[in-house]
Amino acid sequence: MEISEPESTVFQHPEIFRSLLNREGLRFTGQRQKILEVFKNSSVGHHLSAEAIYQQLSEQRENISISTIYRAIHLMVNLQILREIGLAEGKKYYELSTPFVHPHHHLVCVQCGTVQEFEEDLVTAVSVREAENRGFAIADCQFTVFALCPNCQKLHHEGINR
Ligand SMILES: [Zn+2]
Ligand SMILES: [Zn+2]
Repeated sequence: MEISEPESTVFQHPEIFRSLLNREGLRFTGQRQKILEVFKNSSVGHHLSAEAIYQQLSEQRENISISTIYRAIHLMVNLQILREIGLAEGKKYYELSTPFVHPHHHLVCVQCGTVQEFEEDLVTAVSVREAENRGFAIADCQFTVFALCPNCQKLHHEGINR
């Protein structure tokens, strides 16, 4: 039987987010909620840059400045609601963090920037064990594998054979 991926708990339980903010003495503002909704509504991968969030909200005629978005993202990363992922040079992307999504890692094509996610519990388990053995408290665990995707390999070979 196919088990469909559960929707992020942050949306099933917005009170989690609310209580996280309250704990920090912060308010669950409409703007912060709007930003979270962009992640919820984004297509597979949920990897978004601050600029992409700004663009989407502008298209929805939401009046949120880019600096508000930067601040909100920064806050959510600190609260571990979002995690920052380095998928391309000099560009920061964000996605919902564990436990709101299943732990996963990324495979990035260095040529075209295609990103694929993979789940590998062994990788996570080894990392957690290593961290704990050294007395570290895990905040996040992510691997990014930089490689050449099949399509770009094909183009590369065609270029050589021409
Ligand atoms: Zn991801
Ligand atoms: Zn590629």
